[in-house]
Amino acid sequence: MKNHQFVIIGLGRFGSSLSKELVQLGYEVLGIDKDEEAVQDMSQLLTHAVVAESTDEEVLRSLGVRNFDCGVVAIGDDIQASILTTILLKDLGVKKVVAKAMSELHGRVLEKIGVDRVVYPERDMGIRVAHQLVSPNLLDYIELSKDYTIAELSVPKCLDGVSLQALNPRAKFGCSIVAINKPKGIIIAPSAGDVLTEKDVMVVIGTNHQIEQFEASVT
Ligand code: ADP
Repeated sequence: MKNHQFVIIGLGRFGSSLSKELVQLGYEVLGIDKDEEAVQDMSQLLTHAVVAESTDEEVLRSLGVRNFDCGVVAIGDDIQASILTTILLKDLGVKKVVAKAMSELHGRVLEKIGVDRVVYPERDMGIRVAHQLVSPNLLDYIELSKDYTIAELSVPKCLDGVSLQALNPRAKFGCSIVAINKPKGIIIAPSAGDVLTEKDVMVVIGTNHQIEQFEASVT
């Protein structure tokens, strides 16, 4: 078992999926929810799952949440409970507190009370799916800044057998292929002689505009 221990408060759709994944990754997870059924559903999957009201300081204290490295407040709809729980986790001394926000305003309040990271799962997934819908080859992407992105693109049929030298996206569009994920393994910093096949995934870095242009040219 690795060092990190997580306490996840709110075992709704987001909290339960997050906790399950952390357990699968080998971490200890204490799940807390005021709803008995939600706790019951997760009790076999998590290290510990307890029914408790997270806005009650004494309850959190008695559960020893201050000993956890990271606390995630995964309460969405009840904004008041989300804010109170976040303040309590910070006051009790949880090292890192992450909270889910349902709206920009909710997120701004969470930031003001000192949360270490705000996540917007619904908003972010909506944006991600929109990008994937308009770019058929786009599998995933990470925004490095407002302008720069790393995108994972599946290699379309028309590029099967094409070498990076022939494709040369750097000269034509300004973006670079920094890795090729092949069924046999990943090639990091591929050379000009490396050849793409239809089953590969290319990892491209560049501005959003450069990547869009490159993608449009091969779609
Ligand atoms: P999701 O969209 O991820 O399902 P919800 O806001 O619907 O998020 O669910 C959040 C979970 O948090 C629910 O299971 C709810 O019972 C739990 N919850 C809400 N308020 C509290 C609280 N004060 N203490 C403990 N659990 C809470």
